[in-house]
Amino acid sequence: MRHIAIVGSGPAGYYTAEAAQKEFGDDVRVDIFDLLPVPYGLIRTGVAPDHQSIKAVSRRYEKTALSDNVRFVGNVTVGRDVTIPELQELYDAVVLATGAPKDRPLDIPGAELGNVFGSAAFVGWYNGHPEFAELDPDLSGKTAVVIGMGNVALDVARILAKTQNEFAGSDIVAHALDALMASKIERIVILGRRGPHQIMMTPKELGELGELERAAPHVDPRDLPDEAEDAILEPGLRKSVTLIRGFAAMPEHIRAEKRIAIEFDFFAQPMALSGDGKVESIEVERTEVVAGRASGTGERYSIPASLVVSCIGYRTTPIPDVPFDERQGRFANDDGRILPGLYAVGWARRGPSGTIGTNKPDGFGVVKLIREDIESGALGGAARHGRPGFDALAEARGLDVVTFRDWKKIEEAEERAAREGAPREKFVDIEAMIRARG
Ligand code: NAP
Repeated sequence: MRHIAIVGSGPAGYYTAEAAQKEFGDDVRVDIFDLLPVPYGLIRTGVAPDHQSIKAVSRRYEKTALSDNVRFVGNVTVGRDVTIPELQELYDAVVLATGAPKDRPLDIPGAELGNVFGSAAFVGWYNGHPEFAELDPDLSGKTAVVIGMGNVALDVARILAKTQNEFAGSDIVAHALDALMASKIERIVILGRRGPHQIMMTPKELGELGELERAAPHVDPRDLPDEAEDAILEPGLRKSVTLIRGFAAMPEHIRAEKRIAIEFDFFAQPMALSGDGKVESIEVERTEVVAGRASGTGERYSIPASLVVSCIGYRTTPIPDVPFDERQGRFANDDGRILPGLYAVGWARRGPSGTIGTNKPDGFGVVKLIREDIESGALGGAARHGRPGFDALAEARGLDVVTFRDWKKIEEAEERAAREGAPREKFVDIEAMIRARG
């Protein structure tokens, strides 16, 4: 029997568990740890609440979770409640699937001002992550500036723009819905330091901006490269650029009907934020793209900004005793292997890129490494204690482990509390989650 500990119950964690089941069948026991009492990581607190079809992938993870040789070990923080060396002692393989939950810092003067948030915090707020439930962003000003031109920037702009009606069927948490419905934002500026050919936005997500009830995208046609140049783009990006061209060509009377303008400000690099305690404006520098990189032209201008959300990427949280690559913001690893017996998968391995589905081959890849290390003898004989060993340690430490069965009770309570038409009303604090398991 081989024992695998997976740290993190998001997509990378569950795909790894699924791959381990396929590879080792009945000869493996998998424990999936999470610091929250609830599973699914990014699916629950990252994927936008109005993208329920993407969230539905959790049903696949539940199938894995309910099998006899996989179990969920919630409410346990690895690195604090149990250390990595302790897990290595108990399990043949420890796989870090902890994602990249921290914001890449916006390293400009004024970034510490009030009402300036990173996307991990802001998305966590509207998605009910316990760490960010109290964020309380002030939406009483007129202009929000969203920094970055990736899918997260799109999520944030869209959530800021939607009407109550457009949140029907979503699981946006009540505190965020109430705040958004009272919002006074009329202008959402999406800042990109490069041009339309360098956006990271995918067509389906970008297309949604053109179909909002009370908001319309604005693109200055002068920012568009010559149409013939689109031919060299890979097909997905070409589709996105075609959508941007469509936004630029949108008739003025259609835009005039919408209360909220979503303006694409290309070739604009953030330089500084200013304000009295709270952010009031952002200074940007005009850029040009030279050899693929943003290069400042020296021309500067200022945009009023009562809210700033920086969507410029994420970093993995270091764990004591695990080598960390500071520059890349992820665990130091060689294609998933940190060292024999210790691995990283998903965003903790490769950084914050790709879709949910990218984690599937990642999970299968890391299980192949585990198989290789077993066969080379690097992991020793099958003599580790696994589950019973961890249970003894948890009892000795008085850890309050939340099981998958407990989670199902929490889930039922969330479903019972849902407003009409919504799938659930999430608990946003850990104590309430734990109480709900009965
Ligand atoms: P991303 O796709 O890497 O985009 C980050 C953006 O931030 C880029 O436009 C980048 O510009 C910009 N940026 C980085 N550093 C900057 C700086 N210092 N100043 C100004 N701009 C800066 O990251 P993401 O949007 O966080 O998304 C993460 C991953 O999740 C992506 O793979 C994304 O597709 C995925 N995701 C998917 C969905 C979906 O499928 N519905 C939803 C959300 C997220 P440069 O290109 O110039 O560096």
